[in-house]
This record gives sequence, C-alpha cells and structure tokens, in this order.
Amino acid sequence: MLLPISRRDFFKLAGAAAVGTLIGDQIKPSKARAASGATIRYADRDVPILFDADVCVCGGGPAGTAAAINAARNGAATVLIEKGIALGGLAVLGCVYPMMGVRVSDSVTPYIKEIGDQLVAHGINPGDNAGQSTMWFNPEVLSEIYDDLCADAGVDVLYNATLVDAITDGNRITTALVQTIGGLFAINAKIFIDATGDAYLTRAAGVPTKRGSLKTGRNQHMSFRFEMGGIDVKKLYKFIVGKLHDEWSSWAKLPYLEIAKTKKTAPIFEGGLARGELEQEDLAYFQAFTILGKRGTMSMNLPQLPSEYSATDAISYSQAVSHGREMMRRMANFLIKNMPGFEHAYIAREATLMGVRESWRIRGKYLLTEEDYYEQSRFPDAVARTAYPIDIHDVDLELRRKFPKGGFYEVPYRALVTNLISNLAVAGRCISADFAAQASVRIQLTCMSMGEAAGIASAYAIKNNIAVNEVQWDQVPNRSYVSQPK
Ligand SMILES: Cc1cc2nc3c(=O)[nH]c(=O)nc-3n(C[C@H](O)[C@H](O)[C@H](O)COP(=O)(O)OP(=O)(O)OC[C@H]3O[C@@H](n4cnc5c(N)ncnc54)[C@H](O)[C@@H]3O)c2cc1C
Repeated sequence: MLLPISRRDFFKLAGAAAVGTLIGDQIKPSKARAASGATIRYADRDVPILFDADVCVCGGGPAGTAAAINAARNGAATVLIEKGIALGGLAVLGCVYPMMGVRVSDSVTPYIKEIGDQLVAHGINPGDNAGQSTMWFNPEVLSEIYDDLCADAGVDVLYNATLVDAITDGNRITTALVQTIGGLFAINAKIFIDATGDAYLTRAAGVPTKRGSLKTGRNQHMSFRFEMGGIDVKKLYKFIVGKLHDEWSSWAKLPYLEIAKTKKTAPIFEGGLARGELEQEDLAYFQAFTILGKRGTMSMNLPQLPSEYSATDAISYSQAVSHGREMMRRMANFLIKNMPGFEHAYIAREATLMGVRESWRIRGKYLLTEEDYYEQSRFPDAVARTAYPIDIHDVDLELRRKFPKGGFYEVPYRALVTNLISNLAVAGRCISADFAAQASVRIQLTCMSMGEAAGIASAYAIKNNIAVNEVQWDQVPNRSYVSQPK
C-alpha cells in the first residue's frame, strides 16, 4: 500500500538526498528551546530550563494533541509534554476504542474532519458520517498521524516527560516542572493548557477542583482495557448476528463489528459464572469492537473494576491495576473456552494507561451541568456541540428526562478557563462540568474539539496580548465552532 508522505518525511528524505546521510539523529531546530545554561531556582536547587515557549500543553491525549497542533498552526511556539511515548492518551495508551460519535449534525469541527481525512489517507476507513457517528480508527496509525501533524505544525513534543509541579507568580503559572529521562527540567511559557485528564496542572497551581459524584463521593468505575488477537471474526459474526440475531450487533457489517453483553449473549456469561470460570464482578460490563487494520483483533471494553476502587487515590488506583489484570486474564480464558471465534485468541496488548473515565474536574468560569444537557443550553462562546448521552457507569441521575431526537447542547469556552489563573486553559475530560455533564462531554471527539478551541484561543490571546481566561471566543475570527441558535 502506498502511504501519503508527510512533510516531516519529505524534508527528512530531501535532507538525506542533499547531504547523502540520514538526519534522523540530529536535534531539529525549535522555536521554543531555551537558551543553553539557563536555570530556575526550585526546591533549593538550580533546575535547567528546557523550553521558553509561548504555549505549554500538558498531556498528549485527544484534547492535548489537538490543542498543541492548533496553537502551533496559529503561530505559537508550542511544547507538548506527555508522560507516555505515544500521543493519543486513552485512545492509544488506554486501548479506548472507537471514538463515539457526537450524534448531532454539523458537529464536526475542522480538526476532527482532518483526523478523519488522515485516517482515510492511511487506508483506514473510519465509517460513514464519522464524527457525527462513531469514528473507527487504528491506534498505531492514529499515533503516527499525531506525530506527523505535530512535526508539520512545529510542535516540540517531549515524550516520557511527567509534569510534577508548577510554579506560580500571583495569578499566573510561570513554569512547569517535568521529570524526564535527563532529570528534572523547567518549562516556561506564556500560556499553559492542562490536558492531563486529571487536572494535574490545575491542582499543582493550587486551583480547587471537584471529584466524583455528589451522591456517593465515588469516581466513575475505572476499566483496564486490552486487545485480543487471533480471533476468527467471521465465525464470531456468524454466531452473534447469524445465529443469535443479537439486536445490539445487527447493524454490523464486517470489518465493523461490536458485540456486548445483551439479553441474547448474557446466558453465555452466566454459564461461566455457574461453572466458576467467572466471578460476579466480571459480569458487570462486556463490550468489544473489531479494530480496523488489525485483522482478528478486538478492543475489549473491560474489565470494569468494582466501584470501591478510586481513580483519585494513589494506593487504590494501584490495587485496581493488579485486580483488573486478574479479571482480564479470567475473562480472556473464559472467552477462549466458550465464545465461538475465540478458540485461538490471546491477549495481544494491555493498556498502559488505566481507563479512568472521571477523576478531578476544574471549577471554571462556567460550570456545565446536567441541567444544561437536558435544557439543550446554547452559549455565544460555544466551542462544541454534542448530543452524546450522559453515560455514567455508576450512580443514577438527578434528573432523568427525555432528550429529544435531533437535540443537542453546547460547551462554552468559559468552562475551559478559571477566574483564578489568568494564563491557564483546560481541555478534555477535566473541564468545569458536574459529574453528570462530564459523563457526556468526555468522549474523545468532544475532547478534541475542546482542545482545538483551547489551542486557537491561546494563539489568539498571545497575538492580541490578552489573558487566555479573558478571551471572548465569539470574537475570535478563526474559531473552530460557532454557536447555533436553539
Ligand atoms: C474505559 C473507558 C471507555 C471509554 N470509551 C469511550 C469510547 O468508546 N469512545 C470515546 O470517544 N470515548 C470513550 N471514553 C472516554 C475518552 O476516552 C476519554 O474521556 C478521553 O480520552 C479524554 O481525553 P483527554 O485528552 O481529556 O484525556 P486522556 O485521554 O486521559 O489523555 C491525557 C493524557 O495526558 C497524559 N498525562 C496525564 N498526566 C500527565 C502528567 N502529569 N504529565 C504528562 N502527561 C500526563 C496521559 O498520559 C495522557 O496521554 C472512555 C473512557 C474510558 C476510561
């Protein structure tokens, strides 16, 4: 298959041709690199400054990657720090798949359209009407696309770099401290974007946050996702769609297949419980999807950890990892024994990022609520629209009203910024939303649109010399989303 060549590869090859050698091991020029030898005082020591950037984005998930690419494209010298070694966050490191559609027309912001087009250019067809409907992808192709888009935009990506602290001066963050392979480094920036999913930067800067449900105090359930390979998908399809006539999967047309625990498939799992192959906790949730471009491989949306495990407690989180791995093995062995098509299957990949649906959420200028969802709120400063349901894997809702077909609500820019820190924007699953609203906005595509807006707004703020928390999104000329009347 002939793959389109990126600008990065083009220049690499052109350079190699010109000098007769590959230039891959050279350090590329950067707009954001700090002067050599510069240091900052932190915890009684001199810490080298690695970057003096316009924008520093913390976290390279769907939101952070979108923010960095869009800030850089709009002229900001941008650094993106990521604790893993691939961009994509939960979509790549967490085996979270596919991207759920936002279920409303005209919702696809330019960046989402571009990601869809890039997938197609790489031989991955994300499905009909992708974005509004489910966007299927391939995690390894997605991380390659992200690398290329960052390189083309001129983003400095710092991998294996964990944000550990922030230095503030009054109502501004001046510096992010990152632990890297080379030790502790400082990154100075004019604007910081927190896309860590866990509001890590925001908390480090001393801004109060909320976590969990008001009713229970608990976070949503975590899941430890994984991929299984060696599946005879045609055999599985024949069984689920052909023999069981499972309505859940009846729409499926290979290579797109989703299976779940339904009325039709439940007896299979209950049999496993009766025979002692599974435990009650294993039956909490089961869902799996074929992965495009990985023949015979499915993304497993499980195991779902019991609710006692907390996504915001270091020890409980760690115990959830071991417990989840045990549950994963049990379910894999069960499927191999009992599910047609899985006879020769195996665990192909475990997530390297725990499946945290919700942890800490900032308290911003605007708090997006369950009421906004049901009232289909519109905002002049909207950055995205969605009709994705409130998907809580735990407690019930306060309001439980019907959401009309074709209805949608909007996400305001003011939910991405706080009154307390003037040069901070937040994007992704940790924006200012209550527990229920977060369970709707957290899907990857909405996180991407939020990141896109945060990146554009940051570059705009720098060009116009205004604070990012004072940006009037409805006055940004190249805004990625324009609010729609009710
Ligand atoms: C089990 C599960 C199933 C889901 N199912 C779906 C689904 O089917 N479809 C869908 O669209 N969405 C789904 N979601 C939701 C969606 O995947 C997430 O809400 C979304 O990925 C959030 O994007 P984000 O960019 O805000 O954060 P994340 O994807 O969490 O990315 C955050 C990034 O920041 C990095 N990071 C964190 N802390 C630091 C630090 N201190 N220093 C440096 N880097 C840091 C992380 O490594 C990560 O790369 C699911 C989520 C879970 C957990």
